[in-house]
Amino acid sequence: AVEIRSVHKLYGALHVLRDVDLVVRPGEVVCLIGPSGSGKSTLLRCINNLEKIQAGSILVDGGLVGYRWSGADLQEATPRQARRARRNIGMVFQQFNLFSHFTVLQNLIEAPVRVLGVPRREALERAEELLAKVGLSDKHASYPAQLSGGQQQRVAIARALCMNPKLMLFDEPTSALDPELVGEVLDVLRDLAEDDMTMVIVTHEMGFARQVADTIVFMDQGRIVERGPADQVLDAPREDRTRRFLERVG
Ligand code: ATP
Ligand code: MG
Repeated sequence: AVEIRSVHKLYGALHVLRDVDLVVRPGEVVCLIGPSGSGKSTLLRCINNLEKIQAGSILVDGGLVGYRWSGADLQEATPRQARRARRNIGMVFQQFNLFSHFTVLQNLIEAPVRVLGVPRREALERAEELLAKVGLSDKHASYPAQLSGGQQQRVAIARALCMNPKLMLFDEPTSALDPELVGEVLDVLRDLAEDDMTMVIVTHEMGFARQVADTIVFMDQGRIVERGPADQVLDAPREDRTRRFLERVG
């Protein structure tokens, strides 16, 4: 589970996350929506400990990630807690971030072998399994430049899964893709949801969010404005700001 309590994030004087509370239960799929600059990416980066928070606490499976603030006492994650937390979280970005000089298979086994110390043969087996899962068994010897954007993104997802994460974070995983390639990546995310992977997905694909999300969270100006099941938030939003946003994105 992810427990985000009263989190504040500032970049200098810019207050980017304001008192954010969010609990993600095991197996839950949360879709984060909201206008540009509302803090969606920042929230994911804080969960993954890529950014420090200034107040509040973020716990992933009970392990402290980043800071915990309680009164005057600022508590930082120990390096071990931070490492453990990061190992349990996979992140996939808009840009695929594959190692361009590595083959697909090398991309997949790099972190398990180097970071987790998994024996190479075992890592290769698992990698082939995950490539099959994302429908790319025939591409294991290809280099990223030889793949379409949708294929590269599916490799990036498989690579994250190679670490056996307990939580997957996706930051607009389809927005760098040509429209005809979006579906194949969303299909992989749907499969993960079926497998009860815990996920937080920032997306502008409202139709997809409706299908896959247990909970939709609408953010605006650093705050969670509204949250709930898709049919409530998308079809009967309680807040004006949510309604106006949904009208704009169609
Ligand atoms: P988008 O939909 O455009 O991706 P977002 O909801 O993901 O937007 P964030 O990227 O989280 O928004 O940004 C929230 C705010 O924080 C914005 O005002 C942004 O300019 C600011 N911001 C983000 N990263 C930094 C940074 N490294 N330094 C300073 N300000 C930043
Ligand atoms: Mg963003």
